[in-house]
Amino acid sequence: MPVPVPDDAGLTFIGKIHTPWTDRMECPRQGRKDGPVCRIEIFEPWVAGLKGIEQYETLEVLYWLDKSRRDLVLQSPKSDGEARGTFSLRSPVRPNPIGTSLVKFVKLEGNTVFVQGLDCLDGTPLIDLKPDHCNFTPLAPPQKGDFETA
Ligand code: SAM
Repeated sequence: MPVPVPDDAGLTFIGKIHTPWTDRMECPRQGRKDGPVCRIEIFEPWVAGLKGIEQYETLEVLYWLDKSRRDLVLQSPKSDGEARGTFSLRSPVRPNPIGTSLVKFVKLEGNTVFVQGLDCLDGTPLIDLKPDHCNFTPLAPPQKGDFETA
């Protein structure tokens, strides 16, 4: 389908992901926590933002699947003539090709975080890095919305 003109979300790539994969066909579809150790390089001025990251076993990584096409609303992952909606899939082909993985923290060295569990090509731009929400207890004082039930 024709792709709408992008709105400017104002994203800043804060780093680059280094993995063993240079070909999409070799890349895992989803990362595994026993997969190869990959490196997440953080660019300045964001390196100081890594302070405290080593206390989390699991991190959530958000990245921009920059080599993806962005124009499919229906896709056939099995190429069997059965089409599925883009938003019912984790395919890299989507209007905003954001990938997310929960990864195992291995170590921090300077501006580089070593992790296991990624599934992206070498050189993939990094959007964000945060503790897994399941492990993270909000540090800010509680607020009313924290306790609201549906
Ligand atoms: N784990 C993420 C998710 O669920 O949001 C990404 C899953 S996606 C199925 C992973 C696949 O995206 C890889 O197997 C590879 O084919 C493709 N891919 C990886 N890096 C890419 C990149 N930089 N640009 C485009 N496609 C990429």
